[in-house]
Amino acid sequence: MRFDVVTIFPAMFEPVFGQGVIGRALDRGLLELRAHDLREHTHDRHRQVDDMPFGGGPGMVMKPEPVIECVEAVRRENAGPVILMEPWGERLDQKVAASLAFEEGLIIVCGRYEGIDDRVRVALGAREISIGDYVLSGGEIPAMVLIDAVARLIPGVVGDPESLTQDSFSEEPSGWPQFTRPAEFRGMAVPDVLLSGDHARIRQWRRQQAAQRNVPHSKELKKA
Ligand code: SAH
Repeated sequence: MRFDVVTIFPAMFEPVFGQGVIGRALDRGLLELRAHDLREHTHDRHRQVDDMPFGGGPGMVMKPEPVIECVEAVRRENAGPVILMEPWGERLDQKVAASLAFEEGLIIVCGRYEGIDDRVRVALGAREISIGDYVLSGGEIPAMVLIDAVARLIPGVVGDPESLTQDSFSEEPSGWPQFTRPAEFRGMAVPDVLLSGDHARIRQWRRQQAAQRNVPHSKELKKA
């Protein structure tokens, strides 16, 4: 899967995705990630990507031309949908991530300032996605959240595929408290049941524990 990111801060991406499972998947060629510098698609001396809002108001708005030109250039190599990270967009959740993981690629535009000129959305037929009801200073961290959530669903990216089906928001959820060695640490012991080897009891304990945690599937488990 290929991710193309349009941003004024392309250097932010390498330190984050150079490591961990995503970093390894990039090295192995399972994933491809390119961060494109929006300023390379400006044509003025100041490489300006923003301008004052029509109708007045505080702050600046991202100009349409550089974003659209950059996305048009990227589209020659990536046929995937265009996504604008915006706080008022459709909320990212595991279902949205799973549906995007079927795409061959994504083109993700990171906003800055007061947001992106709305004609970008119209001209590119873009989908707007939010990572939650709070406002960050730019779309780069939201884009990283989206890329991470989608990329780890690509077959082979996460070493043990079972850890995907056991994720908190999957159909076969986890979400229970996890422990590893040592069995006792500073007077805190791992629950006996986990050392019992009784898998039926372990499963039951885990379902009960998950039901007490605030994850979507736990409500379903409570009903069951
Ligand atoms: N004034 C705007 C905030 C713009 S924040 C408002 O009140 O809604 C600047 C950029 O940060 C946005 O264009 C978007 O790309 C990004 N951003 C901020 N919060 C976000 C969120 N919760 N989800 C996705 N993108 C976000």
